[in-house]
Amino acid sequence: MSPEEFRAFGRQVVDWVADYYAGVESHPVRSQVRPGEVRAQLPAHPPEQGEPFEEVLRDLDAVLVPGVTHWQHPNFFAYFPANASGPAILGDLLSSGLGVQGMVWATSPACTELETVVVDWMAELLGLPEHFRTDAVGGGVIQDSASSAALVACLAALQRVSGGAVASKGITRRHTLYVSEHTHSSLARAARMVGIGADNVRIVDVDPDTLGMDPAHLDALIAEDLAAGAVPTLVCATIGTTSTTAIDPVRAVGEVCRARGVWLHVDAAYAGVAAVCPELRWINDGVAEFADSYCTNAHKWLLTNFDCSLLWMADRAPMIDALSILPEYLRNPATASGEVIDYRDWQVPLGRRFRALKLWSVLRWYGAEGLREHIRTTVGLAQEFAGWVREDPRFELLEPHPFGLVCFRPLLPEQDDERVYQLMESLNESGELYLTHTKVDGRTVLRFAVGSPQTERRHVQAAWKRIQESMG
Ligand SMILES: *Cc1c(COP(=O)(O)O)cnc(C)c1O
Repeated sequence: MSPEEFRAFGRQVVDWVADYYAGVESHPVRSQVRPGEVRAQLPAHPPEQGEPFEEVLRDLDAVLVPGVTHWQHPNFFAYFPANASGPAILGDLLSSGLGVQGMVWATSPACTELETVVVDWMAELLGLPEHFRTDAVGGGVIQDSASSAALVACLAALQRVSGGAVASKGITRRHTLYVSEHTHSSLARAARMVGIGADNVRIVDVDPDTLGMDPAHLDALIAEDLAAGAVPTLVCATIGTTSTTAIDPVRAVGEVCRARGVWLHVDAAYAGVAAVCPELRWINDGVAEFADSYCTNAHKWLLTNFDCSLLWMADRAPMIDALSILPEYLRNPATASGEVIDYRDWQVPLGRRFRALKLWSVLRWYGAEGLREHIRTTVGLAQEFAGWVREDPRFELLEPHPFGLVCFRPLLPEQDDERVYQLMESLNESGELYLTHTKVDGRTVLRFAVGSPQTERRHVQAAWKRIQESMG
C-alpha cells in the first residue's frame, strides 16, 4: 500500500469510525448473532491474490458489525465500561503508524521516556504517593492488563520474600497468597502461573456488610500458615471489586502485611481512576503507607482504548531483579550505562507497543478537568439511577455504590433467582440495553454500570423505564 493509497483508505477508515460513533445508537447493544454465524460467512481459506481494501470495508459492514457487541453504545451498562475516545483512538493510530517496538530504551527512546512521563503524570493526577514516581525508588509502567500486573506483582513478591531464590532455584517451599472471595480471578490465575498453586491461595473472610476483607482473619490465616512452615507471599486488597465495587480496608490489611512482612498488592483496576477527583481520593486510604504495588486500568473508565493498565511499584528493585535478563542480542550501550529504563524488565513479554501515546493524547485532550468531569458525570448518573431504584418498592438496592456501578435486584416471590436471570436475558435480547449480573450471598443481583461518555441522562432514564416495564 503506497502512501497515497494509504492516505485515501485512511480517510475512508477515519470517516467510517466517525460515522460509527455518530450512529452507534442504531445498533442493538448486544450482538444478536448465534454461535458460528460470523464464521460461516467468512471464506474457509485465505485469499491467494490480494484484494482491494474496499472489500475489507464491505465485509466489515456486512459480516462483522452484526457480530459486534457495541461497548461504546450509550445503553451499554454491562460488566465495566471499556471506554474508547477520539483522542485515544487517534493516539493508537499514531502508535500503529510509527510501528515502534519499544522493548528497551534504545529501540525507541521516546517510547520509553513518554511512558515514564505519563505514568508519573497519572500518579500525580490520582494523588498517589511520591515514592511511586520514577524519580524515586518506585515507578510506574503500562501493562496490557490488570491480570498481567497481578502476575508481575506476584513475581516481585516471590523475589523479595525468597531473597531471589525462587528466580534461581524455582519454588522449593510452600508459598501462600491471600485473597477474598471477591478478589478478581486473575490473582488465582497468577498463583497458578508462578507456581504458588491454586491450593495455596487462601480465602480470607469478608465483613458481611461491606464485603471488604477481614484483617483479623487475614492475620489469623497468615499465623496459621507460618506455623505450618509456609511462606506467606502476597496479599491482594481490592479497591472496587469486580462483582459489586466493594472496598477492602487497605489500611488495616496493610498493617497486617507490614507486621508480617508480606507483599501488599492493591488491585484498583476499575475504581482507581476515580481518584482523579479529590472528593473520591478517600478510596486510596492506606495505599501511600502500605502498598507495595498498585494497579488501575486507564482502559476501563478513563477514556483510553484497551489496552492500557497502569502498574506502580513502591520499590521497583524486586520486580526488575525477578524479570531482568540480558541476552547478547539485546546488549547496548544505553542499557550498560544504567542511565535508562528498559521496560521489558517490568513486564512479562519482551516486546511492547507504544501505548503511552494514546494515554498522552487522552491526558492532553481532556486535561485533568475533563477527566474529573467524566468521572463526576458518570458517578452522578449512577447515583440518580440508584435513587430511582430505591424509590421503587419492587426493587432492592445494594448499598453503598460510590462509583458508576449500581447493584440491585427485583423483589420476586420466593427469591426466584432463575426468574431474575431470565428478566435480564430478555432485556439483553431486546438489544435496547445491556446489563450483567453477579451473585451476592448466593443471590442473583443485577449490575448496572454507567461509564460511557456516550451515555446521557436520557439513556439512563430510558433504561430504568425499560427495566421497570420488564417487571410487568
Ligand atoms: C477488570 C478487573 C480486573 C481485570 O482487568 P484486565 O485488565 O482485563 O486484566 C482485575 N481486577 C479488577 C478488580 C477488575 O475489575
